[in-house]
Amino acid sequence: MASPAASSVITALPETTDPLKIYTTIASLRSYRHPLLSTKSLGFVPTMGALHAGHLSLIRTAAKENDSVAVSIFVNPAQFAPTEDLAVYPRTLHTDVALLESLNAEFSADSTTRGRIEALFLPSVAEMYPHGIPLEENAQRGAFVTVQPLAAKLEGITRPHFFRGVATVVAKLFNIVQPDIAYFGQKDVQQSIILKRMVKDLHFPVQIRVCPTGREVDGLAMSSRNVYLGERRRAIAPVLYQALRASEDEYRRLAAQGGTVDAKAVLAKGLELLQPGKDVPFEIEYFSLADLQELEELGTVDPKKGAVLSAAVRMSPVEEGQGPVRLIDNIILEAEE
Ligand code: AMP
Repeated sequence: MASPAASSVITALPETTDPLKIYTTIASLRSYRHPLLSTKSLGFVPTMGALHAGHLSLIRTAAKENDSVAVSIFVNPAQFAPTEDLAVYPRTLHTDVALLESLNAEFSADSTTRGRIEALFLPSVAEMYPHGIPLEENAQRGAFVTVQPLAAKLEGITRPHFFRGVATVVAKLFNIVQPDIAYFGQKDVQQSIILKRMVKDLHFPVQIRVCPTGREVDGLAMSSRNVYLGERRRAIAPVLYQALRASEDEYRRLAAQGGTVDAKAVLAKGLELLQPGKDVPFEIEYFSLADLQELEELGTVDPKKGAVLSAAVRMSPVEEGQGPVRLIDNIILEAEE
């Protein structure tokens, strides 16, 4: 396995055309941003790269709502446990840059889009974590951001390190990039709830905008990690969204009868569908109906308050050379007016 530090070294940067420029240091990104602080609004889309249509839709929204757009690509070691896939996380920098360039061409041809992608921030691990970032949490030194108790729920049950890593890197990125609005995907709903709380509690002068989940035609939520699935697991994977949709339908049916809705009945409809196949086994990590602020499991849903249905499954390897793949997805049951 390549060491995380080695795999993060950027050897050859792709060529870019105006206005897109690549910045690899904090100092250079700051000198791009500082003169524009009071003159141009900046939309920011942080990513880990291996860009797909879900990422691109966030960037399109950022370009419609701002004078300029910054995208970052940084595979953040702090959000990976030592047992997770940091060393093999997909890294496709040249394709990513080509996609960003083609988005800029699209924006130039579209009079309703005012912003262009001007900055691609590609920091090294050493730049972001000057004191190093060992994956073992006990060995980590320095400042980290925790958002409790939200970070311990749902995804946090099996990935207790995860949101500390995410909140820390996003706080660093906000301090460096100083965006007006930052764009995140609903695909990672818990992440967006946690980052909104972080921004509020730490008084970051940034708005968080959450954009809809981009899906494949069969409903599977797009994810950079879907490439790990292989054919057989990929064929089964849409069942996660189908199960959430079945629960959503049941929720709407029960809500239409008036009053509060029994969470157990809603979850049961989805769980009926979410049955592992014999040759493609998977384990349900959670199938949850929780409130939208604290992510507390609900016994009943008040349609006036809404809720979030969310789920994670862990698919075991089915072929030589594969590792396990986690799929996550969610549906927000919006509060009634
Ligand atoms: P990642 O590169 O996976 O860290 O994701 C970067 C941003 O893209 C995060 O805000 C994600 O929530 C968002 N994102 C990832 N997948 C999707 C998707 N399928 N649809 C919309 N946004 C997404």
